[in-house]
Amino acid sequence: MNKRKRNPRRSIVDVRTECGPYGQAMVSVHYCVLECGHIVVGYPDTRDGKKACPECGKEAKRCTWTYDETHCSWDTSCGEKFILEDGGPHENRIRFCHGCGKPVEVAVE
Ligand SMILES: [Zn+2]
Ligand SMILES: [Zn+2]
Repeated sequence: MNKRKRNPRRSIVDVRTECGPYGQAMVSVHYCVLECGHIVVGYPDTRDGKKACPECGKEAKRCTWTYDETHCSWDTSCGEKFILEDGGPHENRIRFCHGCGKPVEVAVE
């Protein structure tokens, strides 16, 4: 099974250029600093000023649920909101997020 992985696109906040060895030659390497704090190698060649972040794509393998005490609900990292009658996702036997289908991870503070 070959699932196409899609990395989330983040805004580029800074571009750095550094000289580095490439085989025998010295070349300048461009780094894009993204809004998520990750640094991605490559020139910011996109029109919308965004670049796909493979680091964030890796992290998105799980969905983090954070308890919101004000609203008595669970905020998920995929942008959903769930209200559970009693207890957390584990107590309610929710192993996969109803929003994105990824394994649920409870955020610990
Ligand atoms: Zn990132
Ligand atoms: Zn989710």
